[in-house]
Amino acid sequence: MSFLKVRFWGTRGSVPTPGDKTAIYGGNTSCVEIRTSDDDLIVLDCGTGIRELGRELMRGPGPFRIHLLIGHTHWDHIQGFPFFMPAFMPGTELNIYAPLGFQRSLQESLSGQMQHPYFPVELNDLPSRIHYHELEEGFFRIGDVLVETQYLNHTAPAIGYRISSGNTTVAYVTDHESYWLSTNGSFPHPGDQRHIAFLRNADLLVHDAQYTCEEYKTKIGWGHSTIDYAVDIAMAAGVKRLALFHHDPTHNDATVQGLEAAARKRVEDTGSDLDVFAAAEGMQLEVQGPRLKDGLATDFIYQIRQKTARPELPVIVLTDIHTGSDQLSAELTSIDYLITPFSPSMLRSRVHAWLARSAPARSHAAPAAPVDAAGPPSVVPPHGPGRYLEISRAVPVFQASW
Ligand SMILES: [Zn+2]
Ligand SMILES: [Zn+2]
Repeated sequence: MSFLKVRFWGTRGSVPTPGDKTAIYGGNTSCVEIRTSDDDLIVLDCGTGIRELGRELMRGPGPFRIHLLIGHTHWDHIQGFPFFMPAFMPGTELNIYAPLGFQRSLQESLSGQMQHPYFPVELNDLPSRIHYHELEEGFFRIGDVLVETQYLNHTAPAIGYRISSGNTTVAYVTDHESYWLSTNGSFPHPGDQRHIAFLRNADLLVHDAQYTCEEYKTKIGWGHSTIDYAVDIAMAAGVKRLALFHHDPTHNDATVQGLEAAARKRVEDTGSDLDVFAAAEGMQLEVQGPRLKDGLATDFIYQIRQKTARPELPVIVLTDIHTGSDQLSAELTSIDYLITPFSPSMLRSRVHAWLARSAPARSHAAPAAPVDAAGPPSVVPPHGPGRYLEISRAVPVFQASW
């Protein structure tokens, strides 16, 4: 069964704010840990919160394999890195991902804060093995987890991450400003529409919510969201839970509590069932995607795709569930789903329609290859429309319709 465990190590934006007035929501800058069901470790950003995460890891046996996903290299998102103890452990493997910068490489940006005038150990002197990955929009995999990226609207190249394991999705989107100021929940700008599509149906959304609407009036163009925007965009995207994140350094615990209450009221007033809360340092959540009536069908699909080594194998779910979030589950990881009552001919034409849509270049399809359930066929190309035709031709029920 797929799930993602989430732990907040730093929730503050811009600058650390230690002290008794921020003890509840925390004073450390951005850092969120995600553990996959296979125990892969993904760390989102390395603000000062990563220091405590490093200390926690060092209590267990190392060395470690860590995937560090950085949204952008503004200081509040990288300043904890020099104090991340696992990076000082020989044998530890650090895979660091961040958006491709305009003028400096990721390595240069990270090493800047570790030059001798600022820090005694240079980046290149760290004994861990570090691999750098510069990202644009697209997707990649960490073990069984799919990571999708999309540019955000910020003052530096910044990306959001959408992390999916089976049918469970967590989106991490911080340091982002609305493309268009909307107060009534409508989003006419294509940038906001793209943003909504990227966040669609996430089980947990961690979203920039730095300003009140009043504060935002003097901060337009600073690259951050209002709380109302985060709430409205989450509702528009059909998100299940929203964590308000990147708290402004001027907001103490009492202020954040008040803003959280106002956000809940905004949700209530619209009749939405979005669960909204302010992210707090130390908070731990287990996130799990929706279930189908007869168990997790999406997990079953996931296993088939894994077994056939085809992560994008088209799947049509046949279901008798007509309403509710269970259908959503099918929608998330399958190409299509068909609800009872339906006839075999309807099913066949749905498959035909799908193939016509996704594989227009039939004439260029690769030669048919045998599909063996025990393993992937050797001659099917890894990408391109031909592979879908191969797969469907090998399934007897569809052969009659060719
Ligand atoms: Zn920031
Ligand atoms: Zn920033």
